[in-house]
Amino acid sequence: DMTFLKLSICCLEERYAFLTEWYDPTAALLRRYQLFYYPKDSSVEMFDVKNQRIFLRRTKYEDLHQEDLFVGNRVNVFSRQLNLIEYGDQYTANKLGSKKERTLAVIKPDVITKIGDVLELIYSSNLIVTKAKMVTLTWKQAADFYVEHQSKPFFNNLVQFVSSGPVVAMELMGDEAMSTWRRLLGPADSAVARKEAPQSIRAQFGTDGIKNVGHGSDSFAAAARELEFFFPSTIGHGPSNTAILTDCTCCIIKTHAISEGLTGKILNSISAAGFEISALQMFNVDRANAEEFYEVYKGVVAEYPSMVTELCSGPCMVLEIHGTDVPQSFRELCGPVDPEISRHLRPTTLRALYGKDKVKNAVHCTDMPEDGVLEVQYFFKILDW
Ligand code: ADP
Ligand code: MG
Repeated sequence: DMTFLKLSICCLEERYAFLTEWYDPTAALLRRYQLFYYPKDSSVEMFDVKNQRIFLRRTKYEDLHQEDLFVGNRVNVFSRQLNLIEYGDQYTANKLGSKKERTLAVIKPDVITKIGDVLELIYSSNLIVTKAKMVTLTWKQAADFYVEHQSKPFFNNLVQFVSSGPVVAMELMGDEAMSTWRRLLGPADSAVARKEAPQSIRAQFGTDGIKNVGHGSDSFAAAARELEFFFPSTIGHGPSNTAILTDCTCCIIKTHAISEGLTGKILNSISAAGFEISALQMFNVDRANAEEFYEVYKGVVAEYPSMVTELCSGPCMVLEIHGTDVPQSFRELCGPVDPEISRHLRPTTLRALYGKDKVKNAVHCTDMPEDGVLEVQYFFKILDW
């Protein structure tokens, strides 16, 4: 009897259940699966909801970690990106769902070049960045965003400041993300922050009451509204990216580096080397787009299939690096493709410092100078339509 079998299995062994969605690019539709995760042996099992049949037999899969299993997150199971949309049972909801939150963080124009430092602090607080986009707000957009402060005496100055240059909006996720991020920011006035919370971000990087590094949502309702403002899930597109699309090269901080928490360090190294990051955005690239982006390497580089798999195995962060003759000079900062060789020949390059092997080599950079614009366009014009 199936019911008895299911019951006995779940009583014998710990199991987490989720309802997930996967976008099938060939059929262009969303498919729903139940996902089961067995922590004892790190195995997964998938059940096709529509067709009511096993889709994936219980299989060991060590790349999935228990801390990534919560509703709202996106996980990778055998190169399929699954959105965890609901807990499959009360046990899973109680055990894994209690404290996970999403919140909006904005890095304001005063510290845009210190984004790496801020990300370091975010990762060290056990928050993860699940979305990120550099945008420049119009006066109107900034006024809409800060509508709650409309009647305050500082409203005009605030709107003027926040629309004065690029900002980076991020979705942060983790245990008590909202209060964790606000605690990390510290008191709104940077001078007060230096007295009362000297370790806080505003104490370290802020200037005064208005130039105070960042914004954080202050309630669940605000978080929902503000995330929708920058990352609309339904209609519209949100504020546009900042890509210039001339005199530029493309850098991708690869998926493995993001999940190892190296994003902040890599951005710091890029800024320290004097490069201008003129656009920044996180993308979840699907297999078809990864294949298209890496097309020129197909049949040329033995690692092509693994490169495709790496690129679509989770979120990556794409940068537009802007400047004259920048494709060549940026390649030098990245170093030879193989991190082992980089460590011998160019020990201070990004791949020497942050790469693991020829595929997980921390960053992609444009090969041919004439491809710089094309690669940047691929992400910032085609994928971010
Ligand atoms: P928080 O950003 O910590 O949520 P508030 O919501 O109170 O702080 O204010 C929103 C933003 O308005 C602040 O981050 C700051 O940039 C600006 N601001 C707040 N109070 C003042 C003030 N008295 N003078 C100038 N700017 C202010
Ligand atoms: Mg506020």
